[in-house]
Amino acid sequence: TTFRVTARALTLDSGRGALVCFEDVTHLEQAGQMRRDFVANVSHELRTPLTALIGFIETLQGPARDDDAGRDRFLSIMAHEAQRMNRLVGDLLSLSRVEAEERVRPTARIKLAELVRSTLHGLQPLAEKAGIELRHVLPDTVVTIIGDDDQLRQVVTNLTENAIKYSGRGTQVTVTLNGPDYQPALRGAGVSIQVTDTGPGIEAFHIPRLTERFYRVDSHRSREKGGTGLGLAIVKHIVNRHRGRLRVDSRPGQGTTFTVVLPAQQG
Ligand code: ADP
Repeated sequence: TTFRVTARALTLDSGRGALVCFEDVTHLEQAGQMRRDFVANVSHELRTPLTALIGFIETLQGPARDDDAGRDRFLSIMAHEAQRMNRLVGDLLSLSRVEAEERVRPTARIKLAELVRSTLHGLQPLAEKAGIELRHVLPDTVVTIIGDDDQLRQVVTNLTENAIKYSGRGTQVTVTLNGPDYQPALRGAGVSIQVTDTGPGIEAFHIPRLTERFYRVDSHRSREKGGTGLGLAIVKHIVNRHRGRLRVDSRPGQGTTFTVVLPAQQG
């Protein structure tokens, strides 16, 4: 705990006194520290691919100038690093946008089954490339909520991309939409979207930290798969904006289910 202490001498009718104020500024201190950590993390994440790019440019200008085979190989690594930076900057912009909008209530009427179906259609090529069968289970009834179309697509995309990224070839990823039901987490009616994989699973002690910016269970694997470490932080902000809940159930070695519960009706 951090206190800010201020003292002032007082002259009262009954004599002289002093006023000493103890103000708990722990939250301000923590917010400042989080901001500094974030800036340090962003700088580090940007510098890693930049350093690689600078190194390859110098090699191409010097030792590899006349090496045709080497040049092609270096250029493709450089393209890869530049794409990584591009994804990071894109995710940083998304994060700052969703943070700025978090207090603004979404207003569009969204048909969720259609949203899930078309989002998964767009992810089909990625699933095929990874050798994963992407399935969806949708209810017969029309499920509508009040929300933000782009943001809800981003939630489904980020969770499904993770499931695909971290699971092995030959496995299945299933996205299930459940119609309105009583949701204890919301103490009211809600709909849910579940993304289930049979991948490596996540140890329980990591789960509370998954939505922190740049938190990764396995940094090497995340980077190798092109992860920015921001996907779940973005999901969390979007779910908050929709007054929903994000839940993670996982068994190491068996798989993971991410569940997003959203209020069925909003004011
Ligand atoms: P990243 O860009 O690294 O995937 P995320 O914020 O999307 O960042 O996820 C944070 C971390 O959570 C990942 O690095 C990964 O370790 C873990 N994770 C997310 N989804 C899954 C999943 N379906 N199975 C196993 N681990 C996962």
